[in-house]
Amino acid sequence: MANIPNLLGVHALVWVGGWSNEQATEAIKNSKEAGYGLIEIPALDPKSIDVAHTSKTLKEYGMKGACSLGLSFDADINNEDDEIAKRGEARLMDALTVVEQLGGDYLGGVVFSALGKYPKPTTPKAVENATNALRRLAQAASQRGITVGLEPVNRYETNLINTSQQALDMIANIGEKNVVVHLDVYHMNIEEQDLVSPVLAAGSQLGYVHIGASHRGPLGTGNIDFDSFFGALAKINYTGTITFESFSSAVVSPELSSTLGIWRNLWTDNKSMAKSAREYMEAQIVAAHA
Ligand code: MN
Repeated sequence: MANIPNLLGVHALVWVGGWSNEQATEAIKNSKEAGYGLIEIPALDPKSIDVAHTSKTLKEYGMKGACSLGLSFDADINNEDDEIAKRGEARLMDALTVVEQLGGDYLGGVVFSALGKYPKPTTPKAVENATNALRRLAQAASQRGITVGLEPVNRYETNLINTSQQALDMIANIGEKNVVVHLDVYHMNIEEQDLVSPVLAAGSQLGYVHIGASHRGPLGTGNIDFDSFFGALAKINYTGTITFESFSSAVVSPELSSTLGIWRNLWTDNKSMAKSAREYMEAQIVAAHA
């Protein structure tokens, strides 16, 4: 493998649609064999994860684990209703416990709202609920050595944070050091002016990166200007994790696939696809640092 400054990860949904013990073993083993050092495990339902099995298997394969999630509309900190916000916060705290028990140091994603299309803009009271819940989450995470990442996603998946600048503003309002920007080039390609200025704006506050094609299929296809994006990461000397995300109807998660609108079959051979994605990212990182 190339000598690069970043840990490369892969999202579990490249391999499996659920997280039974058999699926966990398969996903962790495949990630290792495709050359990755980290697997990102969806924690939409944190209590369903058998942490003993997962952490044992991660150790066995010498892999790191990170967790990501989006909240649901009935447990959403980005809501005016204090009860609904409280349920969202409880789910975040459960996810934090899972990360801790897996020996991980990262919880990210759409931790600030439900993952899905909101029927209207957010409100000041909902934003206040979200900000206060995230502050308590960050404080609890800090005690456990865990970083919390806010991932701006496109307008059809949240109404709260669609851009890098909105994430930076939220982090300033939270006021805790262990909250970072988590950029995903797939969403940036929809919402940002370009793929460089948001990276430069985030600078040292960029803490996690998702790489995906414009159609969320194999890397090296689609319309995203990866040269510019990896060039920007090199410019800020980004040394954090870079995780590959790709989704196809070939692997279905009952919870996540429909929310993300994964209707098409963009690949079937996930093993060769994930390996070539890892090689593509390595080549980009090497070229950007040359
Ligand atoms: Mn993402």
